[in-house]
Amino acid sequence: IVNKVDVVIIGAGASGLMCAATAGYRGKSVLVLDHANKAGKKILMSGGGRCNFTNMDASPKHFLSSNAHFCISALRRYSPQDFVDLVDRHGLEYVEKTPGQLFCEHSAKDLLAILLTECEWAGVTIQLNTNIEQVEDIPTDTNSEQDSLHSVKRIHTSNGIIECDSLVIATGGLSIPTMGATGFGYKVAEQFGLTVLPTRAGLVPLTLQPSDKERFAELSGVSSDVTASFNDTHFTEPMLFTHRGLSGPAILQISNFWTPGHPIFINLIPQQDIKAQLIQLRQDSPKATLEKWLTKQLPKRLVQVLVEENEWQGSFSELSNAKIDRISEQLSNWIIKPNGTEGYRTAEVTLGGVDTEFVSSKTFEAKNVPGLYFIGEVLDVTGWLGGYNFQWAWASGYAAGQFV
Ligand code: FAD
Repeated sequence: IVNKVDVVIIGAGASGLMCAATAGYRGKSVLVLDHANKAGKKILMSGGGRCNFTNMDASPKHFLSSNAHFCISALRRYSPQDFVDLVDRHGLEYVEKTPGQLFCEHSAKDLLAILLTECEWAGVTIQLNTNIEQVEDIPTDTNSEQDSLHSVKRIHTSNGIIECDSLVIATGGLSIPTMGATGFGYKVAEQFGLTVLPTRAGLVPLTLQPSDKERFAELSGVSSDVTASFNDTHFTEPMLFTHRGLSGPAILQISNFWTPGHPIFINLIPQQDIKAQLIQLRQDSPKATLEKWLTKQLPKRLVQVLVEENEWQGSFSELSNAKIDRISEQLSNWIIKPNGTEGYRTAEVTLGGVDTEFVSSKTFEAKNVPGLYFIGEVLDVTGWLGGYNFQWAWASGYAAGQFV
């Protein structure tokens, strides 16, 4: 028996559920398939269990893609305020942690429950524990000129065969394979002749060269507000030393831009003109020590390592102009050459993916395959840290949901 529905969506994650509800409300029969035993697992683990579900400032500049214009249309048609209106209708309690970043007040479960309720109200069927074996494009048997352009998609699954007019690939990226991430969406894209741009882990901790790892081992757990830079990109946020390397928001952000083999630059005291400060201090408080002053600016353990490594003991009066130059350079432009990243095991997102040149930015339909759609993270669109990736999932899911 072959079951037929209007729309099959593969992937019951953020973008898939949004697309499903949107299409369902339009009167389409919608079936969502997922191999996992639970919908929205990444939503549940996101934002430390409280899901940073949008960013009120989200705009195209917060996204990386080889086609910077692709995201504009969908982001404009479904704004962060649209998503806030949706969760407000369900009475979700949320907090703005840092400006623009909205998190669930209690648990990401509350947000997932809203999406599942929306799907239920829209008449969507969600079928979990279903492995997708094969996807086929079957031309429809018709003589009419217009209909000859049409085909149905036949999906072979571990629970039988399903046919649909519109097939939406919402299987996300490669990050956190233990949560069900697979490269399925990329395989489907390639099967239908779309290009998949090289993928790599994004929003991911950076690992250090073995010698640096040893040097900073005792700093594991220390966090400090810094500006992390790579080329012309700068993020001022906390940086965290871990037993493997560097993490924290500043590092996750810069990891999206970092290219292997190159150094990143860390300004440890970003809010100040360090050189001017040190010259002033030498004049005003010659007997005070650099170490004591640094302890007011930075975590104590970090100061100890810096002072010992660089021999910064002694009072300000002992500092020559040349030494002040070296100290301020070291503090404001600390050069770190990462060894690599922690990879997909801990990455929040996947950079690269289905080449957007092959996909309509209006409908999300593949330009060369009528009835096949790609939404969410599987596409070559990746947001910064801070709720932007979910906003992309909502916006792209909503846009495709209007046309499937
Ligand atoms: P997903 O939500 O990943 O959904 C994909 C679905 O497809 C999954 O249910 C999966 O089981 C299913 N699937 C995959 N392969 C197959 C297959 N072969 N067959 C059947 N089903 C399949 N973003 C933010 O904006 N804010 C945050 O706070 C945030 N925190 C994060 C924390 C962590 C630890 C991680 C890993 C990510 C976080 N993200 C966050 C990123 C965000 O979760 C993703 O960008 C977003 O979930 C992508 O949505 P999606 O619908 O494209 O894919």
